[in-house]
Amino acid sequence: MILPKSNRLTPAQLAEVTGIVAEFGCTIQPIIGALRTIYAIVGDERDDLMINRLEGLDYVERIDRIQSPFKLMDKRSDLASHRIRIGGVTLGEELFVIAGPCTIDPKNPNYFYESAAAVKEAGAQMIRGGVWKPRTNPYSFQGDTRSLDILLEGARRTGLPVDTEVMEEAHIGLALEAGVTCLQVGARNALNYSLLRAIGRAVAGRETAVLLKRSIHMGPVNEFISAAEYIAAFGNPNILLCPRGTAPGLDGYRNHPDESITPLLKEKTWAPVVVDPSHSVGKAAYVPASALAAVAYGADGLCLEAHVSPSHGIGDDPKQALTPEGLSDTIRQARALWRLRRGVKAG
Ligand code: PEP
Ligand code: MN
Repeated sequence: MILPKSNRLTPAQLAEVTGIVAEFGCTIQPIIGALRTIYAIVGDERDDLMINRLEGLDYVERIDRIQSPFKLMDKRSDLASHRIRIGGVTLGEELFVIAGPCTIDPKNPNYFYESAAAVKEAGAQMIRGGVWKPRTNPYSFQGDTRSLDILLEGARRTGLPVDTEVMEEAHIGLALEAGVTCLQVGARNALNYSLLRAIGRAVAGRETAVLLKRSIHMGPVNEFISAAEYIAAFGNPNILLCPRGTAPGLDGYRNHPDESITPLLKEKTWAPVVVDPSHSVGKAAYVPASALAAVAYGADGLCLEAHVSPSHGIGDDPKQALTPEGLSDTIRQARALWRLRRGVKAG
């Protein structure tokens, strides 16, 4: 990792360092942070001769050789000062809440519009809505590209940014073109490294954020952070880590709730942690307690399924979605706890 003395290298300086690393079979990938751009050396960066030549350049402050599989996402990385802003909110400065239906019903768009209005009213800062759905049962509704227009119409009506899951490369382009602010990587695809790379390539140079769910089958937290590194390595570090429960489920719950990994994540990475209690416990009645537990563990945000009329929803909504009232109560309590944890006076 090359850290320049100024905010970024000039084109001539970039050309010079690119030329040096090329002699050693490496390339340079600029990573644009909020405060300054840093330059990842991609390839085998262990050659002392290469490092010495780079360190000798008068515009280079230092070469960081963090021995970590996730050198950009690592808390010791220069990106630790990077702040992610979504829709005017800086993650970490207030509890960031994403809420909305699991699945947009293209036949009944009003359910989505009314849910989106309720999500805004409850005080969430981003609306979620599934356009394309990863379903365990191949005969279940798989989503519909037409729902993308409904999602963006919900964004237009509320003025809030929107998040949706992309499952294949074709979805990425469609979602970005339509104006989706946050691409979601689902629990089934969090270990799909070619999709992670495709997302990284597509969001590089954009303000787009990525909500990376923890895979149902992920083990150590390093595996989760390394998946985020796949995306960041292409140049956009706006990644939110989303624990959402793992398999096998705790008896009675849909998954094994994993909000308790939040402090571990926060010790190892600077990335904000946005917990999804809805998929974790899988039942609306248990979601508020799990949401509060996540905040108590230090989460920076929550991703909550919510629907104006859960029993009329599709996908996970009949079981998991909070009603508008449940959502408002949960957000209010979660914000109060968040302020208590930060020692911020209520108000
Ligand atoms: C979802 O957010 O609706 C979803 C399918 O989540 P996950 O990938 O965590 O199962
Ligand atoms: Mn869902």
